[in-house]
Amino acid sequence: MRIIFFGPPGSGKGTQAKLIADENKISHLSTGDILRNKLKDNDTLSIKLKKIMSSGNLVSDEILNKIVAEKIMSSECLNGFILDGYPRTISQSEYLLEFLDKNSLNIDFIFDFKIDFKIVEERIIQRSEQEKRSDDNIRVIKTRLDKYIIETYPVSKIFSQKFSQNYFTIDASQEISKIQKELLNITKNGEN
Ligand code: AMP
Repeated sequence: MRIIFFGPPGSGKGTQAKLIADENKISHLSTGDILRNKLKDNDTLSIKLKKIMSSGNLVSDEILNKIVAEKIMSSECLNGFILDGYPRTISQSEYLLEFLDKNSLNIDFIFDFKIDFKIVEERIIQRSEQEKRSDDNIRVIKTRLDKYIIETYPVSKIFSQKFSQNYFTIDASQEISKIQKELLNITKNGEN
């Protein structure tokens, strides 16, 4: 099973992706988590990445495309995957679609997490206190949300049209358990 999650930072898609990946025994590919892991290397690349990520800006498409292509072809993803945080730009989405097509891989479900940006801001502020993430302070929240609106929202629009049969909008303001139930229903039975 192959799934793509869209949604602004703080929409809860990471939490849901973990739960749904576990339930369906597929890999959770969070590009944010993969990049944060790379920061531990403390090499030239990680210093560059840290600067970009802590400002709320996006890392280059080339780096992300390479990371995702390698992961998708690895044994980790034999049963499938949830892409959480990718594609985030038009260029990434073009690369992904071509890559999937070349490897005869289809996408089963696309979930788009919709939520009021005011709620998102409150959630991110709370998360910054709990997780001490350097990219979760008020100054960079606006940049992250702006990046979502400008770069990623158009991608989700294209996918909603291209994959209209497999595309589901999720009300991300609901309780975690309610969203989980809705997602499981769709992934198990193809309906909500
Ligand atoms: P996330 O945890 O998904 O919010 O990602 C944290 C940060 O990692 C983002 O603000 C970006 O700097 C970087 N990042 C994650 N995924 C991508 C992507 N697909 N394209 C570019 N940058 C990304």
